[in-house]
Amino acid sequence: MISVSQKSQDVVGRSSLAARQRIPYGSAATLGLGVLPTTKDQRQTATVLKFLFTQPMPAAILDGSKIAAEIRGEVAAEVKAMSAAGMRPGLAVVLVGHDPASEVYVRGKVKSSEEVGIYSEKHTPSESVTTEELLDLIADLNRRDEIDGILVQLPLPKQVDSKKVLLAVDPAKDVDGFHPMNVGFLSTQRPGLVPCTPAGIMEMMQRSKIKIAGQEAVVVGRSDIVGKPMAMLLLNANATVTVCHSKTRDLPGICRRADILVAAIGRAGMVTKEFVRPGTTVIDVGMNRVTDPKEFARVFAGNAKRDETFRSKGSVLVGDVHPEVAEVAGAITPVPGGVGPLTIAMLMANTVKAAKMRRGSRVAELSRV
Ligand code: NDP
Repeated sequence: MISVSQKSQDVVGRSSLAARQRIPYGSAATLGLGVLPTTKDQRQTATVLKFLFTQPMPAAILDGSKIAAEIRGEVAAEVKAMSAAGMRPGLAVVLVGHDPASEVYVRGKVKSSEEVGIYSEKHTPSESVTTEELLDLIADLNRRDEIDGILVQLPLPKQVDSKKVLLAVDPAKDVDGFHPMNVGFLSTQRPGLVPCTPAGIMEMMQRSKIKIAGQEAVVVGRSDIVGKPMAMLLLNANATVTVCHSKTRDLPGICRRADILVAAIGRAGMVTKEFVRPGTTVIDVGMNRVTDPKEFARVFAGNAKRDETFRSKGSVLVGDVHPEVAEVAGAITPVPGGVGPLTIAMLMANTVKAAKMRRGSRVAELSRV
């Protein structure tokens, strides 16, 4: 695995990641000469550099697990200082019923809270809960001062009016950033709580020094949870943004325009090399569990390690981006270990942010001590 920092120490003396993002292979500009080589030394240098730049280079891996650990470390330090001043941030998670995937997600969220020192509590109403009962629970959590963040794990059972429940969460405690008030704050660039997955992707790109301003960004997917807030964050960071969806014509052609391509589709390995211009930063949000052997073979044929996992577990986790894209992308997020870990880290960061915003003046006093 090649990390971004390793790639930035490339023999060509400049960030190969940056070079791959902006400059076509083998051009005079790529060779760093500015003018056509004339002397023998210049010609030799040009030949070596051209060789290096025209060889297929595997994409730099954007290591989400590593960046998530950094974020958790920063959050833990803030939680420690706030707790010492009697302002320990608190998170309440509401998990209805026994959906196995939701149980796994909630377990991860509670565990992560404990690790960074955030107070957390789990509420587990039964599968038959009514909208009214959930509204009562949310009202109680809204009232309690020691609770800074409220997270309602989706999906909720059919009989529950999910929109009504999400709307009932106090926007100041809406650590998922789903409340229309927070959506409005994001689109008008006011301080608020931003959905964790796209917020984590922005953190990853910024910490990996991926250029965003002025870049062409293409987001495939327009969900309220990922696609739309992702597009808004990129726009706020001055990218030129195109949002694609299931009715988009010539999807590969539009994706090929991207300097930054975000795939949030929910279709295993759909984004192939055909969608990606060399050097593009590719962010794979997809988390698709593949159980069909044919589907597995389409994505991972010849990959011994994945083959072993598939045989032993009967399934593998696959992103929306086909592994072959790593041959052309400038940088890419792996699945697993890319966007996923950042989502939980940002939930922790959002809980601290909510605590600070709610207890604003008291936190300001703390930072002056
Ligand atoms: P949704 O199903 O809500 O949205 C999918 C989007 O993809 C829709 O906008 C849909 O278009 C679009 N789409 C579907 N098929 C195509 C197609 N053939 N061509 C172009 N666009 C298409 O999914 P989410 O946004 O919630 O999640 C997307 C993926 O990200 C999933 O795999 C999910 O598991 C994963 N995820 C991962 C997270 C993480 O932490 N890593 C967090 C959240 C999600 P249309 O609107 O027209 O239907």
